[in-house]
Amino acid sequence: MSLYPSLARPRTLADAAALLASLSSGGVVIAGGQELMPSINAGVLAPEVYVDIGGLAELRGIAETPEGLLAIGALTVHRELQTHPLVTAKLPLLGHAATRAGGGRQVHNRGTIGGNLVAQHPLYDLAPSLLALEAEVEWVKGSETVRQPLAAMLADSRHGLGSEAILARVLVVPMAEGLGFAYEKLKASGGAYGSANAAALVKLTNGRVAAVRLVVGAVAERLLDASAAAAALLVGRPFDAAAGAALAHAVSALVTAPLSDAQGPGPWRQAMAGVVARRAVAAAVQRAGRA
Ligand SMILES: Cc1cc2nc3c(=O)[nH]c(=O)nc-3n(C[C@H](O)[C@H](O)[C@H](O)COP(=O)(O)OP(=O)(O)OC[C@H]3O[C@@H](n4cnc5c(N)ncnc54)[C@H](O)[C@@H]3O)c2cc1C
Repeated sequence: MSLYPSLARPRTLADAAALLASLSSGGVVIAGGQELMPSINAGVLAPEVYVDIGGLAELRGIAETPEGLLAIGALTVHRELQTHPLVTAKLPLLGHAATRAGGGRQVHNRGTIGGNLVAQHPLYDLAPSLLALEAEVEWVKGSETVRQPLAAMLADSRHGLGSEAILARVLVVPMAEGLGFAYEKLKASGGAYGSANAAALVKLTNGRVAAVRLVVGAVAERLLDASAAAAALLVGRPFDAAAGAALAHAVSALVTAPLSDAQGPGPWRQAMAGVVARRAVAAAVQRAGRA
């Protein structure tokens, strides 16, 4: 066994998936390296082979599928999400969330949507919006292609993505015309990760909330899908100050094991979960009203 890891650059997705399968967990997928490189530099990771997927054309691009979905290649970087006309027109919530990611130009130009989702980091910015949008993911393991809701992927720690399987694309239903949206990110300081994040989608009918999706991140190990709680409180009513206060209270109560880290202490994070939820829904209502 070599003291140093090897680097493999497969030419096709099928070759990359077959290589990973043959390495049986001795390999690690590398895309933009913005998550992985800091771990490598810190000596936290010691795989036998890095499988560099950065050259795989099959994982690039954003396009509409015959089913009418938006298919976003796993190698799509934050910058493309911020500027691509299809995202701006049909998934503005995701484009907006991508603008709020930190790390500056380097991360925005190299960090991919695939790496962001597979890392399953509770503080990252893309998953809350994609969960609110009920996105699906498609991944390849050996010769098998699996399609499943993003929510299922995030709940399943045995998917093997990054060591045995490759995320190929993210599939999202375009947002309906007039749907209000907002992504709120509360940061303890300028360059920090979020202390509490919330993605909201709101449909209004005659000034009343007709439907709502709400996902809160950065406050617990896993994202909190608070859509059912929000719908129970808000649907059929106008969104006023009392509704906002009730929503903030209900969302905070759902955070039973808040994170306590460099982004802030647990009790504060729990309270801020309610604050960002209220702000996100209020901003989404305002947008829906304007539309
Ligand atoms: C200074 C700094 C600040 C940052 N700030 C933010 C922020 O505010 N918000 C935010 O969301 N993110 C932030 N990030 C993280 C980074 O932007 C994202 O996580 C990025 O999108 C990671 O993508 P990548 O391609 O670089 O992943 P990589 O580092 O290449 O990989 C990350 C993980 O995903 C796996 N992987 C990657 N692609 C695939 C694939 N297609 N299939 C299977 N497994 C895969 C790898 O094996 C690895 O485990 C920051 C990073 C840095 C360095």
